[in-house]
Amino acid sequence: MIRIRSEKLSLQLENPFKIAYGATTSRQNVLVHIHDGELTGVGEAAVVPYYGETPERVCAYFEDPALPNAIGEDMRLLEDALDQLPATASSAARAAVDMALHDLWAKKLGQPLYRLWGLNPDRCATSSYTVALADDEPAYRKLLETACDYPVVKLKLGSGSMDTDLQFTRMAMTTLSAQICVDANGGWSAQDALTIIPRLAEMGVMFVEQPVAKTDFEGWHTLRQQMPADMPPLIADESVQGVESILPLAGLVDGINIKLAKCGGLRPARQMIMLARALGLRIMIGCMVESSVAISAAATLTPLADYADLDGNLLITNDPYQGARNIHGKLTLPDLPGLGVERLVE
Ligand SMILES: [Mg+2]
Repeated sequence: MIRIRSEKLSLQLENPFKIAYGATTSRQNVLVHIHDGELTGVGEAAVVPYYGETPERVCAYFEDPALPNAIGEDMRLLEDALDQLPATASSAARAAVDMALHDLWAKKLGQPLYRLWGLNPDRCATSSYTVALADDEPAYRKLLETACDYPVVKLKLGSGSMDTDLQFTRMAMTTLSAQICVDANGGWSAQDALTIIPRLAEMGVMFVEQPVAKTDFEGWHTLRQQMPADMPPLIADESVQGVESILPLAGLVDGINIKLAKCGGLRPARQMIMLARALGLRIMIGCMVESSVAISAAATLTPLADYADLDGNLLITNDPYQGARNIHGKLTLPDLPGLGVERLVE
């Protein structure tokens, strides 16, 4: 008999996290626990306000009376369970159930999930550390100090001022010995991007993520046509959601940032990796502000990726779990069955 329990998780951010969409100091995520009478799988829904998610909508999915029946009784039949899940508009809720089912499936089989997939845990991509925007240079200098031990640092740009974006990047380049990449979170127009990206390239920026707005396909086209050669790779993040969003971007972008909360879980993420590889795209595995549950699930995919950006749990002060570890950007996958996460506090 399948039992499902939801649990609201209030995550406190160590520093107010300011990006092109605004600033936040806490996040309300929701955990789902799926118990089959013997073992329990856990998953996490990242409730990201700018993706239209709410804790209520996520909990409504977990509490849908049709869900336990859809999952079935035999936890070895993971694909059947995933095929039969009720539809939902909340990809974060779907992702949480998908994670919990993968956790339960791998625990049933007594192996870490990455082992069942045949992945090499020594080949995890290096995770970048994210530096948010700040109101002024002294505040930005403080943020940069938190990043000094990381080999790859991702700067959030799209501050609204090209000068500020360039100045922050210059400060990072002179302060840190890390490789620097930038994420505009859709904060530039195509014309802005055509101006700023060559200057960022001169400074040695490794890649540029989501220069133009989520739905600005014309902008992506303009960049592809007018950007000089040998610019840093352009990675789509907000413009990519699930599997269906990849083909329209083929030929326009150099890579995609896959996040479980956007695409609906580990199964669609793996489909996206295969499709993107077939199209010659680079792969980044990203995250939201999430506890070690969702971060550990995402980390199991990083042996398949070029880049990882899995610092969501490092930004919070009250992570109730431990799992995949991120020590100065080096990811270590736990040698435990399932996702390998363990509860620290009740
Ligand atoms: Mg991004």
